[in-house]
Amino acid sequence: MKKIAPTLLICLALLILLCPGRLEALSVTSPTDEGDVTITSESRRLCQGEIVKVCLKSPAAASAGLSFDGREYPFVSDREGLKHFALIALGVDIAPGTYDVIIHLKPSRGTPKDIPFKLAISRGTFPSKRIRVARRFTSPTSAEIKRIRREQELLGRIYGASVPGWMGDGGFVMPLKGKVTGVFGERRVFNDDFASRHRGIDIRSPQGVPVNASNAGKIVLARDLYFSGSTVIINHGIGLFSIYCHLSKASVREGTIVDKGKILGYTGSTGRSTGPHLHWGLRLVDDYVDPRSVMHLSFD
Ligand SMILES: [Zn+2]
Repeated sequence: MKKIAPTLLICLALLILLCPGRLEALSVTSPTDEGDVTITSESRRLCQGEIVKVCLKSPAAASAGLSFDGREYPFVSDREGLKHFALIALGVDIAPGTYDVIIHLKPSRGTPKDIPFKLAISRGTFPSKRIRVARRFTSPTSAEIKRIRREQELLGRIYGASVPGWMGDGGFVMPLKGKVTGVFGERRVFNDDFASRHRGIDIRSPQGVPVNASNAGKIVLARDLYFSGSTVIINHGIGLFSIYCHLSKASVREGTIVDKGKILGYTGSTGRSTGPHLHWGLRLVDDYVDPRSVMHLSFD
């Protein structure tokens, strides 16, 4: 016993360190006329800046929606209407605390039912960094300000035109191999006079390395933008978009459907960039989340 106890303690400590998502994972069962509904969650961590998958199993064919933090999220259902999932975003600015989530279950026969549960969200840790860039990126001319506004409107239209279905093909993959030199959520001060949040991760790379689609979807943008340079955006459905910036060249056309792994373009340093790298972003509904958090979700 004396030998087992410390080993057990070490194992438990390792489990807590290595699997925080699993320990926080949700598991709720709710009875209905047709049988039990089960709700589980998957996430890397339940904290600011993370994406969370909510899985729902219904005993009979149903559809469902979810309310969280004042927003509505759709569920994607399998062909039989028995297995469903929704993705929710825990933005960097969401206040830590316990939130009420309500699942609106609509059985194909029978009465709709609301199933409430709680989600405890903790604080994320985000470092700060000072960065020097060309003055045109912190003090743009009036012509450049007009261009920036036009591009913001374009992006607003693109992110507003979500599709209800899911276009992804299995789990997400990294778009590029390389060292992560800029983490998600970092507070950045440009030339000591302009602060912003880093809304993706930076992967260091030599110039001209192929960048792959992290999942299947529709190319909704492939053009040069003022800040993000040559940029590709993929719509994966249900409000989820992956974003690839500062490319030397995009090799896909807007409006086309791409498979997971498709070459979207090549790494570069276009736009507000200090050297060749890929900025990879993930946007869900109105929030950006750490794209690496989606790698911890299973999609079958
Ligand atoms: Zn970046």
